[in-house]
Amino acid sequence: MTSEEITAPHMVPGRLYVPYFNYYGAPGSEFYRQLRDNKKIMGIKCPQCKKVYVPPRSVCAACFNNLSELVEVSSKGTLLTYTVIHYTYSPSYQPADVPYACGIIQLDGADTGLCHLLGEVDLDKITIGMQIEAVFKDERKGNILDIKYFRPV
Ligand SMILES: [Zn+2]
Repeated sequence: MTSEEITAPHMVPGRLYVPYFNYYGAPGSEFYRQLRDNKKIMGIKCPQCKKVYVPPRSVCAACFNNLSELVEVSSKGTLLTYTVIHYTYSPSYQPADVPYACGIIQLDGADTGLCHLLGEVDLDKITIGMQIEAVFKDERKGNILDIKYFRPV
């Protein structure tokens, strides 16, 4: 054997399933509790620059202030951008059957975008700037998929 043959990589395909729990901090925890218990979408407001983040975060990305003031934002907003997914890469991990659409939604009262699924819409008729609203699941578990999707208003 040559040294090139010995060092040539040999790839063996495999699949991993890694169950985990993720702690989202106090603001993130309240965000998910409000989704689950009250169908409310919470943001967090910077005391200095007044920017409202959805989902909440602990530090302002604009002025680096610590954030703690949770504020309710609307469940309606504007579609900032979107994509349509046509490829099934791993059915057990994708949130919907293809084709489906995901978008970045700026809720009324927020300054940032929230990434989520789009539903009840013809995939060929989605437009940037369209007004959309959250549709909540009947049975909610305290995660982002408590919002089933966003649909046109
Ligand atoms: Zn700020």
